[in-house]
Amino acid sequence: MNTKHLPHKTVERLSQYRRTLYLILSKDKTHVFSHEIAQMLHITPVQVRRDIMLIGYSGNLRKGYDIKELIDLIGKIIDTEKGQNVAVIGLGNLGKAIISYFKGKRTKLKIIAAFDINPDKINRVYDGVQCYPASRIHEIIKNEDITIGIITVPAEQAVATAETLVLSGIKGILNYSPKPLNVSPNVFLEEYDMITSLEKVAFYAKKNDERFK
Ligand code: ATP
Repeated sequence: MNTKHLPHKTVERLSQYRRTLYLILSKDKTHVFSHEIAQMLHITPVQVRRDIMLIGYSGNLRKGYDIKELIDLIGKIIDTEKGQNVAVIGLGNLGKAIISYFKGKRTKLKIIAAFDINPDKINRVYDGVQCYPASRIHEIIKNEDITIGIITVPAEQAVATAETLVLSGIKGILNYSPKPLNVSPNVFLEEYDMITSLEKVAFYAKKNDERFK
């Protein structure tokens, strides 16, 4: 199946479906209907059915989707056989939090290196992850077969960091810095700006609060 052209939003939802399916599986169910997945994720059953149809899977009208089969199929689409290695660049509060959060959570995505410029952090191990000097990004990424970089350096360092990652052959970047980045088209870039997300929530919270009217 050619999954190259799946919409980004569908890929995001497939990840959410898989986590939801694991939850349902743990309740000893073997099958699930689209409306049950939809209800847990606050989306429409039509959306769920459309996404799952896009990956070429169809459920049984009477029983719904086979949970294990669907989990396996989503895994084949999202994961690679041997998994992917990930590096965190910038071992400040956010970088450390990401490493701790991820520890033992995903078998197919492993954070195996961190990079920093602060001598107090370099050559130490945080939650099982070795911190290297940023000057070794190129070498370690190549030698350790790291394909994904998470940028958690300060905004003014983000562009240079992304450039180094791209030159080192990275294939995907998750940018947590508030600085929007440009990378070559053969590198997938996902930006997560916490301030934008929080201000969006603040805007709607304000609208929902009588005191601000
Ligand atoms: P701390 O106070 O421990 O440094 P922080 O979260 O306040 O934490 P930030 O200023 O956000 O730190 O920086 C995040 C991390 O990025 C820091 O550990 C910093 O040393 C590191 N850093 C800064 N510039 C670079 C760079 N060019 N390459 C790699 N790491 C960098």
